[in-house]
Amino acid sequence: MSENCNHDCSSCAENCSSRDKQSFIKAPHKLSKIRKVIAVVSGKGGVGKSMTSALLACASQRSGRNTAIMDADITGPSIPKMLGIHDRAMGSEEGILPVLSEGGMQVMSMNVLLNNEDEPVVWRGALISGTVLQFWTDVVWTDVDYMFVDMPPGTGDVPLTIFQSLPLDGIVIVTTPQDLVGMIVKKAVNMARMMNIPILGIVENMSYVVCPDCGRKISVFGESKVDAVALENGIANVVKVPIDLDLTKAADSGKIEEFENDYYTSFFENIDKMLSEKTKNKQ
Ligand code: ADP
Repeated sequence: MSENCNHDCSSCAENCSSRDKQSFIKAPHKLSKIRKVIAVVSGKGGVGKSMTSALLACASQRSGRNTAIMDADITGPSIPKMLGIHDRAMGSEEGILPVLSEGGMQVMSMNVLLNNEDEPVVWRGALISGTVLQFWTDVVWTDVDYMFVDMPPGTGDVPLTIFQSLPLDGIVIVTTPQDLVGMIVKKAVNMARMMNIPILGIVENMSYVVCPDCGRKISVFGESKVDAVALENGIANVVKVPIDLDLTKAADSGKIEEFENDYYTSFFENIDKMLSEKTKNKQ
């Protein structure tokens, strides 16, 4: 037990013996079926966390899995824009229905609930955490094989609520070469370990650019350190994704699902393998 324990586990991240981890996990909507839930996290904003969530989800959907994205970045939602979604979410008597992307992925985001998608969300943390929980408890998610949760950046209130309340199968950490990679990854690793959540892989986004003339990989932000960091933290699944202007264009024009790439194909397959083995071992 922590020295300063006030017996309120909901506001404490200490993984001590008095914590009953399961007791915080919320049940999803009674009509929802969600098999695997993966959170995509980053130390700070702007590193490509939403891009990673979207591309990982596309890799999952392309592999034939029914895929969903929960955009938990309530104050900076960018998933609907990347997928070209402008519809509003509809409700039924049973609950809120996710919006479907062109490619058939189920999506819930603050931006599909606002009357005007340019409206800012100027809310305090507790309200934001409550909304994210409602995305889990009040939305009817239909037969989902993989749900990717695009987390807000950092290790604050909302990520903590998600870590405690959703039955996460693991996290994917997104970083960039100039992102003080060692320290930031370490913080995410430590948070996941405190909450007993497996780390399924690290993405080094904007790792390099490919010279359009000679095809050489140029490390614009300095040499990659992600392999060393992954090794140090015992993480075997690593992917380095380049700065790709076609990717930016596809995201900006809402056509990320049409973007042909295999940046995340084997990264996703590795995750799928890890989680299938775990399920087998549990049986
Ligand atoms: P975050 O969710 O971490 O705040 P985003 O995923 O919204 O970051 O990415 C920030 C910006 O960088 C977006 O405009 C996105 O299109 C762009 N971006 C992200 N990753 C790449 C990449 N690998 N190549 C080119 N542009 C990228």
